[in-house]
Amino acid sequence: MRATILEFHDLAPEVRHFVFEVPEVEQLLFKPGQFVSLKETLAGKKITRPYSIASLPDGNRFELCLNLVHQGVFTPHLFAMQPGDSVEISAPLGFFVVRDPAKDALFIATGTGIAPFRSMAPGYFQHPLARQLTLLFGVRHERTIYYRDDFDALARNHPNFRFWPALSRADSSWTGRSGHVQSHLAEALGGRTDLDVYICGLKAMVDDVRAILKELGFDRKQIIFEKYD
Ligand SMILES: Cc1cc2nc3c(=O)[nH]c(=O)nc-3n(C[C@H](O)[C@H](O)[C@H](O)COP(=O)(O)OP(=O)(O)OC[C@H]3O[C@@H](n4cnc5c(N)ncnc54)[C@H](O)[C@@H]3O)c2cc1C
Repeated sequence: MRATILEFHDLAPEVRHFVFEVPEVEQLLFKPGQFVSLKETLAGKKITRPYSIASLPDGNRFELCLNLVHQGVFTPHLFAMQPGDSVEISAPLGFFVVRDPAKDALFIATGTGIAPFRSMAPGYFQHPLARQLTLLFGVRHERTIYYRDDFDALARNHPNFRFWPALSRADSSWTGRSGHVQSHLAEALGGRTDLDVYICGLKAMVDDVRAILKELGFDRKQIIFEKYD
């Protein structure tokens, strides 16, 4: 399949939100949390990179949240693309999906690791048995709390949703949570070890959080994660 860029806008200097459509299908079927692989031949080599879908299923459209990796092979190409340009994609895939929406859950993201949760968090509340959900989101600065309005709106509509951004380089004016997501884990869990924890971002954070959870007594099956590198 090929996906065409309808529009994009920058969430931060090197983070871009893209809206794609797949003209050859009426519906792109996927579960919130799954990814598509984008493929392109660059300098004679076929390059494939997976990207989490950052939107709920919506006809043949899907959205992505991409971080520009300057030394990277693929992202400089994606950041040079313009509306109307297209790229080959795979069918959506992946097991980073909500296992049991009737169970309390904690979502933890850093940076563009927020992408699947922009789909999974509203998706969680589409379930009639949805329970308590907390999203702990680590970024550096207040201006890089990507999709803040969306998550604030979700929290207004669902009192059982808590959106907790944490800033690692907060200004003195910031009155919210500061530091890394790891330092807010205990508060988010509230002493409980019976919920499912979903983690997405770069390996260092994911491994660190997993190690803390294991130490707290979490079973492997309760820790669902996606590593970007
Ligand atoms: C299941 C899955 C879903 C993903 N979803 C997203 C997504 O929604 N948005 C997104 O921006 N990326 C996502 N990624 C990462 C993405 O697939 C690419 O690895 C990334 O875009 C870098 O590609 P590149 O060819 O430009 O860099 P490469 O040439 O592959 O170089 C990657 C190198 O850059 C470093 N690096 C710095 N920042 C990143 C980063 N954010 N991700 C990966 N490597 C990084 C790594 O250390 C790595 O060694 C996902 C990865 C996986 C496995």
